[in-house]
Amino acid sequence: MATGLFCLPLAVLLLMQYRWLTHMETVNREAERANMSHYLDIVAEKTENHYRLLAAGLVQVPADLLTGDLAPILLHYRSIPREKLAPVSYLFHMSFVGDRDRETYLFDPQTGDWAAQVPDSYYKKVNLAGIHWWAWHQKKLDGAPEGLVTSHYLPNQPIIMHLIPDENGEVIGLAGMVLDDDYFGRFLADIVPDTLNATFPGRGMRAEVLDGTDVRRLETETIGAIESEDKVVRPFSWVFQDWRVAIHRNGGRTSGLAETTVMANGLVSLALAIILALGVLFSMRTAVNYRQLSDMKSDFVSNVSHELRTPIASIRVFSELMRDGKIGSMEKVVEYGTVIEQETRRLGGLIENILDFSKIESGQKQYVLEETDLVGLAEAIVQGFEQRPDLAGIRFARTFPEQVPALPLDRGAIGQALFNLLDNAIKYGPATQTIEVGVRLEETRASVWVKDQSGGIPVHERERVFDRFHRVHTGAVHQVRGSGLGLAITKHIAEGHGGRIALTCEEGVGSCFEIYLPFGGKERGCRAEKTGAVG
Ligand code: ADP
Repeated sequence: MATGLFCLPLAVLLLMQYRWLTHMETVNREAERANMSHYLDIVAEKTENHYRLLAAGLVQVPADLLTGDLAPILLHYRSIPREKLAPVSYLFHMSFVGDRDRETYLFDPQTGDWAAQVPDSYYKKVNLAGIHWWAWHQKKLDGAPEGLVTSHYLPNQPIIMHLIPDENGEVIGLAGMVLDDDYFGRFLADIVPDTLNATFPGRGMRAEVLDGTDVRRLETETIGAIESEDKVVRPFSWVFQDWRVAIHRNGGRTSGLAETTVMANGLVSLALAIILALGVLFSMRTAVNYRQLSDMKSDFVSNVSHELRTPIASIRVFSELMRDGKIGSMEKVVEYGTVIEQETRRLGGLIENILDFSKIESGQKQYVLEETDLVGLAEAIVQGFEQRPDLAGIRFARTFPEQVPALPLDRGAIGQALFNLLDNAIKYGPATQTIEVGVRLEETRASVWVKDQSGGIPVHERERVFDRFHRVHTGAVHQVRGSGLGLAITKHIAEGHGGRIALTCEEGVGSCFEIYLPFGGKERGCRAEKTGAVG
């Protein structure tokens, strides 16, 4: 119940935590993807700026060079420093002036001359790019595009062109350059990792570049696995539009954190709930035990009061009769005297038990061992019972061995233990019965046992009858007076001699108690044996 009360709010908390964490995870992932896109924008922007700057110096051919004479423009191309031409495969131009066929002239920076062996298809594509603008010029379409224009007729090698106006603003031709893809690759190898480190310092990100034919042209260092869900790709926007740059989270998922955290918290909470449940159980058990002990103590007080009151009342009545001289015959005197003696003996036994119990509880009980004849002791106790006229219906059957060596025993204590067992056999057995008493000798120990014809002790009570104050509250037994101390003391006596007491009952037949007394060693513990009669 308490655990349930604890678990319910805990489960709600865990659920809320899970929802909050998954939300945070989504927000986080979106923010990260936005950052990744931003990175790709920066790379694209840097690329465009770089090529615009390059083209501004290379394709802005002065209008007066487009006369149809190739010599001045060749000189112009040759005047450009060689290193500035690294980004281009070819420079080219086309003149729209006059009626001649539109011809494209390609300048090869490698040879410093007009390109001699341009593959046909390649040439056509460059030409096509120029013709497109010538056609536009022919149709006299308004608004010449200012600045630089691009064309992608050549896969992986885009073209940047510049439409050249004369002093009246009329387009008279164009100049352009075919970009070198190897140079582009080298350029990316510089800016892609640098920009990555600047945008995501110390964060595991990886970038790669794929060209128009899906060949990976560049890959920053790879560490760990790549989660495809954490990947953002974009093509370049101005030149090399069929190339793509991609950024990945390098290993380690951002997703799944909520599950892991909630799982860990759930386990901790479960452990707490279990500890709490155990705590509650333990407290409940303690409370129940305390309650039982308290009930047993009050039972004990009422039982003992009753046990004291009854013999005292008998003694008073019979002694008053004797004092007043109201007894007619000598037999009556003997009879009343015997009753007084028995009741006194019972009172003595009870007080003996209570005093012993108090000594045991306070740890002061000590057993003084002396060489004792166990059979003789048992015989004396049995005879004491046999002489009681109130036990006329009870017969005692002895099973004593011929010779038993003297054993180191506390004579008084063992006598009291045997007295308790015989007293119980009489109390809880029928008024007419045979009680068997025996002494047994084994290799390492001796034992003394008592077997009666009572109804026996229920199986579930066999361990507990040795507990202090415990009395069986079922059947006819509970009518019998008692303090619940006899067996607890007897057990203590057995253990005080290094032995133990065992209970072997055949329910419905009788009870058998046996006290084992080892000669020298120890045989601790008390055991309720299930079957097998003693003797
Ligand atoms: P008491 O006899 O004063 O109640 P004991 O400690 O001697 O206390 O016995 C504990 C309980 O064990 C008894 O109340 C009784 O129910 C049960 N008991 C003890 N001896 C016998 C026996 N010989 N036969 C049946 N029940 C017994």
